[in-house]
Amino acid sequence: MKVSILERQRGMIDHAQIEHAARYFAAQLLSARMMGNLKLKIELRGRGILGKDNDGFVMVNMTSEAQTEFRICLDKSLPMKALLKALAHEIVHVAQVVMKRYQLKKGADSQAYANWEGKQLGILDKIPYATRPWEIEANSKQEVLFASYCKDHRGQIRL
Ligand SMILES: [Zn+2]
Repeated sequence: MKVSILERQRGMIDHAQIEHAARYFAAQLLSARMMGNLKLKIELRGRGILGKDNDGFVMVNMTSEAQTEFRICLDKSLPMKALLKALAHEIVHVAQVVMKRYQLKKGADSQAYANWEGKQLGILDKIPYATRPWEIEANSKQEVLFASYCKDHRGQIRL
């Protein structure tokens, strides 16, 4: 897996820590072969750009059948603990897309249509966040991934 970290105005965030966690989270969710093809661009941005109540997002390609390059944007103003949880959350989405469990397709009306585990769920914007199965999964798995990362690297992470 190729990982690059982008930060326009370099602050205090340890990029090696972010990359290390990204590799760990991906390895918990994907096979070595799936990881081998993957390229992650992790962009650390100011809160203003992401918007209120949004710790991060990942770009899902609506035209690609087999997306292997992902751009993840994270709110760099978050404390490290929240930043790593947001990273874990977005990597859960990456795994959902790579395993084709979650897909977005552009309809004839140019709207994004969501597909989850082979089921067409309709226009993405019309599905409330709280009922989106990929979000329910990412919100629960981010906690599990973060906890196991801390457990496996006890004493090595500064939070
Ligand atoms: Zn999400």
